[in-house]
Amino acid sequence: MSAPDGDDLSRPGAAAYAAEWARAVRRLGFVPMSAAETERLLLAHAVRLGRALRAPTFSAEAGEEVGRALVEAHFTEPGVLDWSVRALGDRFLPSVLPARAELPEARDRVAALQGALAAGFARALRDRTFYQQERIARSAWQARDAVEQALRDSEARFRTVFVGAAIGIGIAGVDGRIIDVNESFADMLGYSVAELRQINVAALFHADDAAGMWELYQELIEGKRDSARVEKRYHRKDGSVVWTDLAVSLIRYDDGRPRFTVAMIEDITERHELQQRLRFQALHDPLTGLPNRTLFFERLGEVFDRAGPEERVGLCFLDLDGFKAINDSLGHDLGDRLLKVIAWRLSDCVAGRGHLVARMGGDEFVILVDSGGGLDDAVEVAELALAAVSAPVQVGTQQLAVSASIGIVECPVEETSVSELMKAADTTLYWAKAEGRGRWAVYDPERSAADIARSALAASLPAALDRGEFVLHYQPIVSLLDGSMVAVEALVRWQHPELGLIGPDRFIGLAEETGLIVRLGAWVLRQACRDAEGWRRAYPDARLVVSVNLAARQADDPAIVETVAEALQHTGLPAELLQLELTESAVMGSGGEPLRALHQLADLGVRLAIDDFGTGYSNLAYLRRLPIHCLKLAGPFVEGIRADGADAAADHRDERIVDALVRLAHAVELWVTAEAVETEAQAERLRALRCDNGQGRWFGAPVPAEHIRRRLAGEEEAA
Ligand code: C2E
Ligand code: CA
Ligand code: CA
Repeated sequence: MSAPDGDDLSRPGAAAYAAEWARAVRRLGFVPMSAAETERLLLAHAVRLGRALRAPTFSAEAGEEVGRALVEAHFTEPGVLDWSVRALGDRFLPSVLPARAELPEARDRVAALQGALAAGFARALRDRTFYQQERIARSAWQARDAVEQALRDSEARFRTVFVGAAIGIGIAGVDGRIIDVNESFADMLGYSVAELRQINVAALFHADDAAGMWELYQELIEGKRDSARVEKRYHRKDGSVVWTDLAVSLIRYDDGRPRFTVAMIEDITERHELQQRLRFQALHDPLTGLPNRTLFFERLGEVFDRAGPEERVGLCFLDLDGFKAINDSLGHDLGDRLLKVIAWRLSDCVAGRGHLVARMGGDEFVILVDSGGGLDDAVEVAELALAAVSAPVQVGTQQLAVSASIGIVECPVEETSVSELMKAADTTLYWAKAEGRGRWAVYDPERSAADIARSALAASLPAALDRGEFVLHYQPIVSLLDGSMVAVEALVRWQHPELGLIGPDRFIGLAEETGLIVRLGAWVLRQACRDAEGWRRAYPDARLVVSVNLAARQADDPAIVETVAEALQHTGLPAELLQLELTESAVMGSGGEPLRALHQLADLGVRLAIDDFGTGYSNLAYLRRLPIHCLKLAGPFVEGIRADGADAAADHRDERIVDALVRLAHAVELWVTAEAVETEAQAERLRALRCDNGQGRWFGAPVPAEHIRRRLAGEEEAA
């Protein structure tokens, strides 16, 4: 058999599917072609549907075309449509998608294809019926004299057309009085022919008929149009409703005045119900029965379409916390049951208040807040939803405690668009998660702009490093004993071409997150060693130490020892003139074990300092066992040391802490440097407490390397 498409892995599946389809079609009614032809045709359709299912961007058009093609091939028995749609839902997916191929939206796609197939089938069938009806109408038109006659003396030629038609035909005067109907018409409406002859068509109209139906009819009887065709409901005699495809034509007198209307109706109730069912399926999530994302976007679109200038839109974007872990540990079955419970609770607590709750997929739900009350309403809805989710869930024998995070966006419709709104909701949900889950966050455009600026800054870091936009400033570290400059701390800055000089607090964190810190840190090390070696050559007696900060991620890098050794070797700086500053958490590493590289670094001969000491939780006794040389006391302790202190009690407490720390440090042979020394009084007190060194504005702010050289040369004094 020549294949319409040879590339499919799933061909055997499609072929088996087509064979079954062909058998069903032939069983269900007359088919004007051979079994092999039928199968070949249906295989082409199956392959077509399969391709649509797997296409990178989905369109349901294939479904519509296949539906039409079925009618064109004269597979028009209603059973054929029913079978085709049902099999597409039940059996198609496993036949054409290899078992392992993950296609999360496959079920939604199948539902859309089902709907499209039914719609295509129905439309093609209608077009065909309409064509047939037109023929009847035309013959009725040609026999209009006969119509007249028929009314008088039952002219035989007209009666044959009229009585024998399977389609319901009714003739009414322009006043709406029914003049005659055939049996089919009467059957469809559940009346007898005689009864209908007593009735005005207006009595049969359905109260919920679309607006415009009356106008249409009015235009027809006024002679403003010759025909009309609509899908319309009628009340049957027993009160039930029949959906029909109605075509009405106007028959005029010779002079053009309206004379009768001839209506032809076909019962399409079953098809209509099938379409309704499929529409429901296409717009609802099969697991939870909640509206799905398609329906949600449809509704959201309506909010935007009908929005007046004052209108606001609000939504709560909800995501369960840690759902993946629950799913992985307890199995998808329990996961599904949990989702059902959550869905039920959500719709129970907010849908009743007129808000739409939809499942966006996975463990994501969205609530479209019917907001009259602005942000307050949205927040209230979010709190209700969080409370509903957080009550323990009993699934099987398990009791689960779940929480959710919610991103809330609420703003005037005019200020946003559907895609902006969804993006904002997503961003805000992320904030809620980052702030610790189990909570809601409200969208804040300024924060979002800052986030964006932050990521833009992060993205431009690597190129900035390549372009040499980073510079080092050095801050003196001074002996409290004799006032001499014993060391300088290298502090990096970014000379940004547009933003000017940017401090490390704005980009070191970003560089740590992106990993660039390893490369940036290596540059800092190399540059600091180069500068220090320059000072040593010029002023060997100063024995000026350069102190370089190592970020946790840098210290954890397997190549750190090599990097440091290379910097020393390359620049010629003696190891004892280099100090590395690590925070307590960097020293302890992520696993709770002290960094392995610590001993290797100490073995190189470099000095190691604990930066910001006192802000972490390390204990001194433990630090004693590590090759540490120096503690840098964090700024806040020094801040509490003021000679003129207004709050004397606090002053004393900080002093006593510094006193104790210095004594302990000295007991285990560690040097102590106090940071952030800003006043002479602080410097004095620290000296009295036997702190070894001081660093801070009092001794000099961070300055370019050239200033340090001048200070070594005695050309520049401390600030
Ligand atoms: P740090 O290591 O604690 O550096 C000391 C910070 O205190 C510096 O801020 C310095 O300018 C500031 N400072 C100096 N004198 C005073 C004072 O009298 N009072 C107060 N309150 N502060 C003073 P800077 O330069 O903005 O650096 C901030 C932080 O950025 C540093 O804190 C360090 O953690 C980090 N950093 C700077 N350069 C590097 C680097 O090359 N690598 C790494 N990994 N981190 C760096
Ligand atoms: Ca430092
Ligand atoms: Ca510090």
